[in-house]
Amino acid sequence: MASFKAIVIDKADAGQTVRLTDFDESNLIDGDVTVAVEYSTVNYKDGLAVTGKAPVVRRFPMIAGVDFAGTVEASSHPAWKAGDKVVLNGWGLGETHLGAYAQKARVKGDWLVRLPGTMSARDAMAIGTAGYTAMLAVMALERAGLEPARGPIIVTGAAGGVGSVAVALLAKLGYAVTASTGRPAEADYLKRLGASEIIDRKELSGPARPLAKERWAGGIDAVGSTTLANVLSMTRYGGSVAACGLAGGMDLPTSVAPFILRGVSLLGIDSVMCPLPLRQQAWQRLAADLAKEKLAAMTAEIGLGDVIDAGKRIVEGQVRGRIVVKIG
Ligand code: NDP
Repeated sequence: MASFKAIVIDKADAGQTVRLTDFDESNLIDGDVTVAVEYSTVNYKDGLAVTGKAPVVRRFPMIAGVDFAGTVEASSHPAWKAGDKVVLNGWGLGETHLGAYAQKARVKGDWLVRLPGTMSARDAMAIGTAGYTAMLAVMALERAGLEPARGPIIVTGAAGGVGSVAVALLAKLGYAVTASTGRPAEADYLKRLGASEIIDRKELSGPARPLAKERWAGGIDAVGSTTLANVLSMTRYGGSVAACGLAGGMDLPTSVAPFILRGVSLLGIDSVMCPLPLRQQAWQRLAADLAKEKLAAMTAEIGLGDVIDAGKRIVEGQVRGRIVVKIG
């Protein structure tokens, strides 16, 4: 294959351009593994990249797309051989290294995770970086000692990608899940994923008091800003909150009160540079703890030609659940 279809972001005098075009294979960046990409997905960060709303892309021209699943085509890396099924999240893909919205990718073998045996490439990208991040957040809360007997748990940005997977995972693990959403019309959807209570995100969007009534034993926050500050102020004594997103803003207008008066822990979640053993564990846990019918219920499929529009919709908060992109 001398050239293949790709979503390419470039910089012009008038600003950023993005288009579906032919990309010459000889222009791929060096790497020790070549992968035939079968599926990718649209995460919030992909939306920021294709719209240019935030400086995600740091090399031009760039093939967008921060994650993929596919089959190894050629490898000089000792861990991988042709035919292996792999998944890749982050490590600068679609930011500093040519990304996932292309029929072919050349990457470092050290970045790859083997697909769990029970998981298809499509399932892996229906989960995508959003779902893998939700799993990293669940694992961080568990390491901090959270368990269902400690009390209910809140998920913010619940109807989005991270939120939908987090709700389904936590419900399967036995937690009573409160889903915070700005889309009341999605209440039934969130209940089907396993939420036991739905609250309007306005309850958490105003300025936070240092301490408020204790409501949840823990939380997974995809929103940041005043939402995270309110969640912290409402977390029960000794509870933990995993912060993984900024859909509502990058600031955090809080005080030290939840930490020093209630022993609350704030756990940072990063999926991009996350060490390999944690990634491998997260993908194994996703294979075990995410019900396939719930994944299917939150997933819509699009083609490469629909990615730019989907990227616009996700940064406007209009995407429900997950979007998987069929590429191969
Ligand atoms: P989505 O757009 O799918 O979900 C975000 C959700 O946040 C929306 O669906 C909406 O939920 C809510 N939301 C959006 N705008 C606002 C707002 N202004 N105020 C309050 N709530 C809002 O994105 P993803 O799930 O893919 O990503 C969620 C966040 O997590 C993003 O900020 C992303 O950058 C971050 N992220 C971080 C990673 C990491 O490594 N730390 C990895 C992956 C994602 P609702 O309609 O239910 O209110």
